[in-house]
Amino acid sequence: MTVCNSCRYCEGLCAVFPAMEMRRAFSDGDLNYLANLCHACGACYVDCQFSPPHEFDVNVPKTLAIARADSYAAYAWPRALSGAFARNGLVISLVAALSVAAFIFGFAAVNDHAVLFGIHTGPGAFYALMPHKAMATLFGAAFLYAVVALAMSVRAFWRDIGEPVGYRGDAGSLWQAIDDACRLRYLDGGGVGCYNENDRPTDRRRIYHHLTFYGFALCFAATSVATLYHYLLAREAPYPWWDLPVVLGVLGGLGLLIGPMGLLAAKWRGDPALRDASRLGMDVAFIQMLFLVSLTGMALLLWRETAAMGPLLALHLGVVFALFITLPYGKFVHGIYRFVALVRYARERRG
Ligand code: SF4
Ligand code: SF4
Repeated sequence: MTVCNSCRYCEGLCAVFPAMEMRRAFSDGDLNYLANLCHACGACYVDCQFSPPHEFDVNVPKTLAIARADSYAAYAWPRALSGAFARNGLVISLVAALSVAAFIFGFAAVNDHAVLFGIHTGPGAFYALMPHKAMATLFGAAFLYAVVALAMSVRAFWRDIGEPVGYRGDAGSLWQAIDDACRLRYLDGGGVGCYNENDRPTDRRRIYHHLTFYGFALCFAATSVATLYHYLLAREAPYPWWDLPVVLGVLGGLGLLIGPMGLLAAKWRGDPALRDASRLGMDVAFIQMLFLVSLTGMALLLWRETAAMGPLLALHLGVVFALFITLPYGKFVHGIYRFVALVRYARERRG
């Protein structure tokens, strides 16, 4: 950053360089803020006259990728679990998913084989396998834990990058950050596209990111609408094909199938010089979990009126539960920290 601050050639590429120019010295908090502003588009590496093989060896995307991954662990809550970021996230996620699926599967099998492999149709069919109250308690607790852990982590990040804890951002800065985040404004390499595998920029990574993000948001909306149906209208799942929770879930599910597959392919083809190879497991684990949530959800929708419904529901719930409890210790946090960094950046610019 000190070399970049003398050079300033890349100041028009993204938010990182204008934010850097507001500083002369870089504390850990400043670097974590800059690292989470970076969208890893690779443009500054391709444009830089000091990148390898130059002896200065300036590699901003990779350096900020390492700092970014370190920042996730640094702000994790509770601190004892910060090591989870360094371990293979894929193994953690799969073990958790299989454990929960096995638990639900076993629970139903021990109590009544006919229930698990039976054909259940109509409102309340899912609750023949697991009572709604037990399901809501289990998933409500996992979701609440994820929300609290993420809130505590964001609080530590916000404080470390120099913002007062009580301050939540002015409306103008918040709106600017929402606009930047929803458009993935800084994943465009300064306007030409993202450099992923070579020095020819494309918009593919941005499109797959959009599909993944909006797919996740639609699936969340589907679950929220279904919850409102259950408690406000006394209408129990599963719902017909044309109903809002199913329509939202199908659209979101398609986004979560295509987006993660594209992101995995982009990772596979990506230039290793730009990446932090030691954290690849964490990235891949989160993308695969999103893909599996969608795959099992879509399979459940397709075969919900057959004898496969019981095992498929157990598998889907297992994967969703694993996703919830690993959210605060995996790649999901990058979306939150990046948004918080964008709020701060908008505030700095306005100031
Ligand atoms: S990345 Fe290279 S070209 Fe860009 S500002 Fe830094 S030193 Fe200059
Ligand atoms: S990789 Fe892209 S987003 Fe990151 S600092 Fe370089 S130009 Fe900015």
